[in-house]
Amino acid sequence: MTIETNSPEETFALGQKLGEQAKAGQIYTLNGDLGVGKTVFTQGIARGLGITEAVSSPTFTIVNEYTGTLPLYHFDVYRIGDPEEMDEIGYEDYFYGRGICLIEWAELIEELIPEGAISITIEKDLEKGFDYRKITVE
Ligand code: ADP
Ligand code: MG
Repeated sequence: MTIETNSPEETFALGQKLGEQAKAGQIYTLNGDLGVGKTVFTQGIARGLGITEAVSSPTFTIVNEYTGTLPLYHFDVYRIGDPEEMDEIGYEDYFYGRGICLIEWAELIEELIPEGAISITIEKDLEKGFDYRKITVE
């Protein structure tokens, strides 16, 4: 499924819809270049899960945890040097638990991503405008 958005609000709204529909244990992988809207999308998912707390990219930690209708585990693995760092944080408890996992830069830890994860890719196309984003969900 491919969705095109033309504003951060639209990307947020798409995330919110997915968050409202999210099933316990669902994993979403989020790929796309820096500044493409991965965090905006995540903020939408969080809202869809009833989380009112501010959600920002985990900067000094690999994962941020939030409590909503389901727990939300927001990973940003951009700074991971070695997938073994994921062992150190006990990633399996998150990936195989009942909370919702959202993993920015998941391609960097591809071998750890369980089957059944929903892949979300966000791309720009500057020919279609500065705020245009193509979002592929599969
Ligand atoms: P990432 O987490 O992928 O690095 P962010 O979500 O932090 O990116 O930032 C995306 C930036 O792009 C924000 O400043 C946002 O306002 C802007 N933006 C412009 N158009 C869109 C759009 N259609 N969808 C999402 N973000 C957009
Ligand atoms: Mg981000």
